[in-house]
Amino acid sequence: MTRLPFGRTAIPLAFAGLMLATPASAQGQKFVTIGTGGVTGVYYAAGGAICRLMNKERAKTGIRCSVESTAASVFNTNAIKSGELEFGVAQSDVMYNAVKGIEQFKDGAHSDLRAVFSLHPEPNTVLARSNFSKFEELKGKRFNVGNPGSGTRVSTEVLIAALGWKLSDFSLVSELKPDEQGSALCDNKIDAFLYTVGHPSAAIQDPTTTCGAKLIPLSGAYVDKLIAERPYYAKATIPGGMYAGNPQPTQTYGVLATLVTSAKVSDDAVYALVKSVFDNFEEFKKLHPALANLEPKNMVKDALSAPIHPGAMKYYKEKGWL
Ligand code: GLU
Repeated sequence: MTRLPFGRTAIPLAFAGLMLATPASAQGQKFVTIGTGGVTGVYYAAGGAICRLMNKERAKTGIRCSVESTAASVFNTNAIKSGELEFGVAQSDVMYNAVKGIEQFKDGAHSDLRAVFSLHPEPNTVLARSNFSKFEELKGKRFNVGNPGSGTRVSTEVLIAALGWKLSDFSLVSELKPDEQGSALCDNKIDAFLYTVGHPSAAIQDPTTTCGAKLIPLSGAYVDKLIAERPYYAKATIPGGMYAGNPQPTQTYGVLATLVTSAKVSDDAVYALVKSVFDNFEEFKKLHPALANLEPKNMVKDALSAPIHPGAMKYYKEKGWL
């Protein structure tokens, strides 16, 4: 993999499980790129699924789609603003903050940010070494807070503040990327990490099978208060038995993943993306198990704080969904 500036990683197409390579200079082709997250997360797989369906239509649409592994939500939202990316996956709390110009976007609202659809639920997932069972036990321990530019980092900071803790309450705060945090946990370099991610995810599967890592619930008055105060949060349960050695359901809370774009991206490109996903929806849902329970009618209305892009709205109106 080649490191690019600003936390972007170019993934060879063969590795990304995408289609055949086409000449970079293909005449008359338009290119769109979807910013995702770490390769062991769900964003990368969801972006790959969207591109796979879009690229099947490229003889007709003239649009070639590719995915990029990135630092995730906040990075993707900013890269859409600057025109570096056409599409990105972002947590619904990050979209909300970007539209309002608050928290990590207090330097200015993203007035051109547009919603395409929402995706899978992303519970705040705390995974710890096998000797821990409660989040409170992690005070004074070594904790991975999420890499800069991630939505996970946003989730961690809100959680820590809600508990009345500070980052300095941990003995070590690491900022490892999702693809690094599982091995750091099993190598006893950290005691736990938080990852706001869909399930199942390889990033959780690997440490539960390799070193018996345990899912830690997040519940109590502080969670109820967060959900009451912040419209994008809802309770969530990670099903029991989804991961090795974790037979019990894990209560937590979280957000939804969403797909966002810019008002500057053409109606044709957004329409082509949306049409290829929803015209082939059964196939889309099979491309990753975290996508299996999606319902189009919810995807076009849940958790979309930004206005829906007109290219997407055209398709939703044709279907009678909006
Ligand atoms: N929700 C995570 C973030 O924005 C990314 C999860 C994933 O890559 O599936 O940091």
